Amino acid sequence: MNQPTSLSRYRGRFAPSPTGELHFGSLVAALGSFLQARAREGCWLVRIEDIDPPREVPGAAGSQLKTLAEFGLVPDEPVLYQSRFGTRHAQALQQLLANGKAFLCGCSRRDLPADGIYPGTCRDGLPPGKKARSVRLRVNGQTIDFVDGIQGSQSQRPASQTGDFVIRRADGLIAYQLAVVVDDAAAAITEVVRGADLLDSTGRQLYLYRCLNRPAPDHVHLPMIVDADGNKLSKSSGADPIQRQDHKTALRLALRALGHEPPAGLTSLSSQLAWACQNWQLDKVPAGPCAIGVQPGR
Ligand code: GLU
Repeated sequence: MNQPTSLSRYRGRFAPSPTGELHFGSLVAALGSFLQARAREGCWLVRIEDIDPPREVPGAAGSQLKTLAEFGLVPDEPVLYQSRFGTRHAQALQQLLANGKAFLCGCSRRDLPADGIYPGTCRDGLPPGKKARSVRLRVNGQTIDFVDGIQGSQSQRPASQTGDFVIRRADGLIAYQLAVVVDDAAAAITEVVRGADLLDSTGRQLYLYRCLNRPAPDHVHLPMIVDADGNKLSKSSGADPIQRQDHKTALRLALRALGHEPPAGLTSLSSQLAWACQNWQLDKVPAGPCAIGVQPGR
């Protein structure tokens, strides 16, 4: 059966938060999602996830886009800015509240047990004396099973990971979990390729797709890039910006982290990228954490 092209065509994305400069781990995530989209003859999008002003670093979005372009990673459609999609985030929130899948919660962090798992305090209505602060998604005991393109079979149970989780924060901002699902669905993303640090969130996100009645994309979680001590590189904690590193070396190392080694004779950035587009094979990408490209002591 032929499906309309708009529904069947591969659509992937890279979705950085503008909380700092891109680092080597971000380059690996951007490159992995780009190469997978190219190999599937699909479309690759970039969405700046700028809906958390307290964590945003002024100028970071522009500089992330500039860095991506320097590596030849240019999106096939205009860059999306998540902050422009407030209306549809609010609509999704209302939908979940109206059909009872979400509820108002009056708890602060102090009210939660040490394991952080929500004990269900407000799920049947705000207890007397409590005022609404956040909105939480009501999770049931379901186990969410999915097959990750690199990490293999996964089984996650949101009830034991987090319990009912926040979809609108106490400061009024829409939480990442809801925004990412609403915007990936709106952009008709067919496969999410991102770092393995987000693997744990995937069960909650797949659960949200069900609650919102939207088709869920496939998932591929790339190896996590760690420093010499095994800690994840992070933009907000000041990992060495990729912008300041030699781009040809960084690209070669990023491809190596993804299990691909361009021939030594290919020295230019564009020839290495072209080689990678032609030779990309998802089954060559390692699953486990990787410390390639990270210089000790930085
Ligand atoms: N914005 C998230 C980040 O920068 C990534 C979101 C995603 O890929 O799902 O970590």
